[in-house]
Amino acid sequence: MAKKSKKKSSAKKKPARAKPRPTKARKTAKPARPAGTDPQRVAAILAKLDEAYPNATCELNHKNAFELLIATILSAQCTDVRVNQVTQTLFKKYPEAKAFAYASPSELEQEIRPTGFFRNKTKSVMGASKAIIEKFGGEVPRTMEEILTLPGVARKTANVVLGTAYGIPSGIVVDTHVQRIANRLDLTRNEDPKKIELDLMPVIPKDKWILFSHQIIWHGRRICQARKPKCAECNLESLCYAKDKTI
Ligand code: SF4
Repeated sequence: MAKKSKKKSSAKKKPARAKPRPTKARKTAKPARPAGTDPQRVAAILAKLDEAYPNATCELNHKNAFELLIATILSAQCTDVRVNQVTQTLFKKYPEAKAFAYASPSELEQEIRPTGFFRNKTKSVMGASKAIIEKFGGEVPRTMEEILTLPGVARKTANVVLGTAYGIPSGIVVDTHVQRIANRLDLTRNEDPKKIELDLMPVIPKDKWILFSHQIIWHGRRICQARKPKCAECNLESLCYAKDKTI
């Protein structure tokens, strides 16, 4: 019996893979800042805001940091006018943190009901008041880190209280007006309030942070409204190239 001859393998040897060359780490391109943040343009915007709203301030009535904190918690999804109506009697019945901390939740719920979301707001108001008494000796804390530990307090409320009540420029308040107008003025291209604040902080001088927030909020309420901005009456018009300008 003839022996089967072993077939020679016809498969060619694959060439050895070349070792990858060490490459330089790729630089990730930083997102370009909006053209609107040119320092000269920003300075011109700030000058116009000073001209139009030299005395802009918080429109929530309050006598101290604690009242401002409570009013700001109540102002979520509610107008300042409505909050002021409610706090006018509320602060007489509950003149300090202790009174809110140990209030009857069901009574307080009814009292703040006109401001909306009253169950959650009651929890926040009572929780923040208790924490102020138990952890901070009855005084609203003065640092961002501490104030953020209070129930119902996020960066916007913290910036309002630290800036307006204590004069501490901890950041820039980004509410719905600042969110909209910072975009219209091309100072940011973000929609998320945290990102907008991070965009604005290096662009607006720190000594203007508190006033700038109030001025933009005033501008949003009076002129640069969401649906039909009154561009013909706006003193920023020559500096604004928003797509939804009305002139
Ligand atoms: S010109 Fe119009 S869109 Fe621009 S900031 Fe003024 S009101 Fe707002």
